[in-house]
Amino acid sequence: MTDDTIFGKIIRRELPADIVYEDDRLIAFRDIAPQAPVHVLFVPKTPIATLNDLTDGQAAVVGGLVHAAAEYAKREGLAEDGYRVVMNCNEHAGQTVFQIHLHLLAGAPLGRFGT
Ligand code: 5GP
Repeated sequence: MTDDTIFGKIIRRELPADIVYEDDRLIAFRDIAPQAPVHVLFVPKTPIATLNDLTDGQAAVVGGLVHAAAEYAKREGLAEDGYRVVMNCNEHAGQTVFQIHLHLLAGAPLGRFGT
């Protein structure tokens, strides 16, 4: 059950988190183990375990995460210098929490990604 993930518990306020944004569709909070000076996770309130589980009708869920991250970056003065957004899917990408989420990384030059 996706709702039983750590992120589901954060959404329901059963676990604490440093929440930086929330609306009726999604929540955003700081990553507990930041990989950049700014590392925020954008998580939809709709339970979806991985990108593989996204249905034809749910494309807007991911679009909403990207848009919310871009708006956050602009509000926080991160947009001009730039930022990275990443979604991990399953083992080879290192997904550890099985509720889809978008990582926003910013605040310093970022290394190139890959292997
Ligand atoms: P994934 O590897 O699944 O794409 O990313 C999961 C992210 O969730 C990791 O960057 C990890 O540090 C973060 N994370 C795991 N548990 C918690 C938690 O309890 N609170 C917060 N704020 N982040 C968490």
